[in-house]
Amino acid sequence: MKCKGVLRLAFLFMAFFYGPYKSMAWGMLGHRIVGEIASTYLTPKARKEIQQILGTESIAMASNWADFIKSDTTYKYLNSWHYIDFDSAINYTRMQSYLKSDTATDAYTKLNFLIRKLKNKKLSQNEKLMYLRLLIHIAGDVHQPLHSARTGDAGGNEIKVSWFGQPSNLHRVWDEQLIEFQRLSYTEYAAAINHASVKQRLTWQKQSISNWLFDSYRISEQLRKELQQPEQKLSFQYNFRHIETLNEQLLKGGVHLAGLLNQIFG
Ligand SMILES: [Zn+2]
Repeated sequence: MKCKGVLRLAFLFMAFFYGPYKSMAWGMLGHRIVGEIASTYLTPKARKEIQQILGTESIAMASNWADFIKSDTTYKYLNSWHYIDFDSAINYTRMQSYLKSDTATDAYTKLNFLIRKLKNKKLSQNEKLMYLRLLIHIAGDVHQPLHSARTGDAGGNEIKVSWFGQPSNLHRVWDEQLIEFQRLSYTEYAAAINHASVKQRLTWQKQSISNWLFDSYRISEQLRKELQQPEQKLSFQYNFRHIETLNEQLLKGGVHLAGLLNQIFG
C-alpha cells in the first residue's frame, strides 16, 4: 500500500510537470537550432562585435535566456514581447497597414525597438547583453507559426490535441514536440537542415520583418484549418505532413536572424 501511495504521488508529480501546460515559445531546442544556424552566416565584423557582447556564450546558448527569466517576476513585463496577434483571415496588405500603426507591446514593435537600441553604440555592456539576448530569442520566436497568429485562442494553446496519446495542444506541438520527435541535438539538427542555397539565403535576407510575420501567420492559419474537429490525435502522420514546414521555419529563422545581426553589427 505504501508503495502504491508513493507511486501515486510520483504520478501526480509527473502529471503536474509534464502535463499540458501553457507553452509560450519555441522550446529550448528550437531556439538553439535557430541560433546555431544564424552563427554560420555572420560577417567577421558582426561575429567579433557579438562575441564582445556575449563573451563565451554562443548565440545558440544565448537564445534561451528570455525564457529562463520568466521564472523571475521582475521580468514579467517582457512576456508579451515573444509573440504578436492579428485579426483572423487578414491578407498581407492589411497586415502591413496594421503594423505601420502598431503601438502594442508585441514582437514586432519590440524587435524594432531592440534593433534601434543595439545600433546605438553608447549602450552599457549590461544593456547590450540584455537587448542582444532578447533580439536573438524573439527573432526566433516569430518563426514559430503560432507566435504570429490570429487572436482568440492564445496562439493555439487552447486548441487541444493529443500527441502520441498524451494530452497536448497545438502550440506545444509546434514549440517542442515535433522538434523533440526528431531525436536530434541542436547541433545535429542545425547541421541536418542548414542547406539553403546562396541564392535562397540572399532572397530570404531581403525580406522584411513583416514578411516573416506574414509567412508564420499564413502557416498558422493552415494548421488551424486542418484541425477543425476537436481533440485530434496527432502522431506519425502529423510529423510526416509537417516536418518540411517545421524545418524550413527553423532554417529561415536562422538565416533571417543572421541577416539582422549583420545589418546591426556588420
Ligand atoms: Zn519566446
